[in-house]
Amino acid sequence: MKGKDYYSKLKQRKKQIGEQQITELFLKAEEAFSSNSKVSDRCVRKARRLAMKHKIRLPKELKIRFCKHCNAYLSPSVNCRVRLSEGKVVYYCLNCKKYMRFPYTREKKKRLRLSSSEKRKDL
Ligand SMILES: [Zn+2]
Repeated sequence: MKGKDYYSKLKQRKKQIGEQQITELFLKAEEAFSSNSKVSDRCVRKARRLAMKHKIRLPKELKIRFCKHCNAYLSPSVNCRVRLSEGKVVYYCLNCKKYMRFPYTREKKKRLRLSSSEKRKDL
């Protein structure tokens, strides 16, 4: 019989794979967004399901990338508005017209390179 340790290690491994998949899904979501935002939304839903299944807490960098109300992938100035107020970042989803608030902390850009270099400035 395999011990408890074996199973907890297995679980840990699965969780790691889940985290990897979530990261990939978000990268794919960003890639697809300009051509087909529906693909992005689907990626977001998948990623959230994975997070739930493995009890993974999404890092803040990812949390601000989608609307928690309607699961839409959010791209600032395209389908969401970002404002700072009272030490909080307020995201307004143009898709479902709801707000999300996050405590304001300095962004740690290096953890995930979801680049914004392709953002069009003319919008
Ligand atoms: Zn929304």
